[in-house]
Amino acid sequence: MRSLIVALGALLALNAAADCEVKIEVGDALKYSTTEVIANASCKEFTVELIHSGTLPAVAMGHNWVLSADSDVDAIATAGIPMGVAKNYLPDDDDRILAATKIIGGGESTSVSFSLDDLESGTAYAFFCSFPGHTSMMRGVFKIG
Ligand code: ZN
Repeated sequence: MRSLIVALGALLALNAAADCEVKIEVGDALKYSTTEVIANASCKEFTVELIHSGTLPAVAMGHNWVLSADSDVDAIATAGIPMGVAKNYLPDDDDRILAATKIIGGGESTSVSFSLDDLESGTAYAFFCSFPGHTSMMRGVFKIG
């Protein structure tokens, strides 16, 4: 009985963790493995793991994962272009950026964890890649569910 309870507890912990974490894969194409991420509203912290399974280096086919209000995506991406790959093609200290990973190349992975407390219900949120030329293709919807 005791081992059953322990096993059940581990299973519940696993489920809770799964809800607050998502793995997104990218490769040598302008595409995320998913175009919609739904975060459980009860998560204290939400984690996005980005895995680049391609072979091209970050300077040629870099990708990141950036979260903002849907209406801010284009302005952030445009402001990020002159910043270069060293700054992950993102403007410095920009409050419109709610979460962001660094730019990674083939064979690399990265992650970002952030609180959902700052997100408001009723606002449309989006995630995107800020690498120049990628944003219109690499864009998805972020929802609190
Ligand atoms: Zn990209």
